[in-house]
Amino acid sequence: MSKSMHVAIVGGGIGGLSAAVALIHRGIRVSVYEQSSELREVGAGIFIYPNSLRQLERIGLGDALARVGARVGAGSEYYRMDGSVVGKILTTDSSGWNGMYGMHRADFLDALAKVIPPDAIHTGHKCIGFSQDETGAQLTFENGTVAQADVVIGADGINSVLQKYVVEPSAPEYAGFRAYRGLIDADKVPEWRREAHQVWMGDGKHFMVFPVRRGEMLNYVGFVPTTSETVESWSAVGDRDELAASFDGWDPRVTHLLSKVETCFWWGLYDRKPLSQWVNGRLTLLGDAAHPMLPHLGQGANQAIEDGTALAVLLEGCAEGGAIEAALKRYAALRQPRTAMVQAEARKNGLRYDSKYADLGQRDREIANSATLRKSLYDYDIEKAASQFLQASPASA
Ligand SMILES: Cc1cc2nc3c(=O)[nH]c(=O)nc-3n(C[C@H](O)[C@H](O)[C@H](O)COP(=O)(O)OP(=O)(O)OC[C@H]3O[C@@H](n4cnc5c(N)ncnc54)[C@H](O)[C@@H]3O)c2cc1C
Repeated sequence: MSKSMHVAIVGGGIGGLSAAVALIHRGIRVSVYEQSSELREVGAGIFIYPNSLRQLERIGLGDALARVGARVGAGSEYYRMDGSVVGKILTTDSSGWNGMYGMHRADFLDALAKVIPPDAIHTGHKCIGFSQDETGAQLTFENGTVAQADVVIGADGINSVLQKYVVEPSAPEYAGFRAYRGLIDADKVPEWRREAHQVWMGDGKHFMVFPVRRGEMLNYVGFVPTTSETVESWSAVGDRDELAASFDGWDPRVTHLLSKVETCFWWGLYDRKPLSQWVNGRLTLLGDAAHPMLPHLGQGANQAIEDGTALAVLLEGCAEGGAIEAALKRYAALRQPRTAMVQAEARKNGLRYDSKYADLGQRDREIANSATLRKSLYDYDIEKAASQFLQASPASA
């Protein structure tokens, strides 16, 4: 019965493709509509944590991710800006499972795309409109085409076009920070700890490094305050000298690595307060379209992957409109509290990393205790939570 349901996903980023893979795994037919002429991600790294890797492995992506990911473990630490150690970074869940990878974003997107039938992915489709009635939903695209579906998932990012069909539009909030980032060949800094996630904190900014692509490359990010609002963009070319100057006088490991950087990119950092509503009939939102968050816990994409798993569990077996709408309402009820908590915690963690504390001893104590929060993020099993939620509210909307 579930095979007859057709789900249209608008957006072929990590959120949209991971939702497609989770739905396909449960026998649900999907079509992905992406505005770009090809699926692409930016040349930077992303952390995949146990809460999402657990789900990706269950649906058969374990080997593909192991081939391109970099394991992160030994030597992962928080430092003050002078390089003195504040504490260790937790790199396992509570069971001791080291389920985390540093990934090149393009490698990750490619691993997801490979398990989606090519004819289910429609690039060059910029969605410009949505409508629905009791028989189904309709999407219109800038190229003049139209698509029908039983369910529409807006996975179209922080500037989502579909969001306005669900909730009163509101502008994303600027955090006052620019993130400079890029990749560097690990061979250029042979002395670097190959498996470590390392974070330097201080003076209103922070810097971090972790490995990607089997450890062959290092991903670095420098978070620097700006007085002027910068465009939220995945492709603005940054200024490598400006980046290096921002961390002048920090731990020599940081300044040495920055001296090897040739090019970098920058992004303005934005998030949103939690949306009051995620669903309108057959339409729902996922990933940054639903809950953009600051990157200070590395959970934006991980939460999108949880969203997709929840939708797959809750939509499986739904055929007609009433059941679909009830499933989407359950999805929102399950996901809104958790993503709102992560959005808030990401903001708080940014204050720690940027040392916005009168008493730095307090910051150090909170950082040293951060394993408790990380465990609560990593131990969460969304597939189990969604199944339990379904059993607890089988007929309610
Ligand atoms: C500096 C930084 C570091 C980060 N590090 C991490 C990390 O380590 N771990 C982590 O989990 N998260 C991290 N994040 C967050 C993460 O990148 C995002 O949460 C995630 O990429 C969101 O995925 P998405 O698919 O929801 O949105 P997007 O990646 O924005 O994808 C949206 C897609 O929709 C397409 N689209 C948009 N509009 C339309 C339309 N009208 N029609 C059709 N297609 C459309 C876009 O072209 C795009 O392909 C970080 C973010 C930043 C800024």
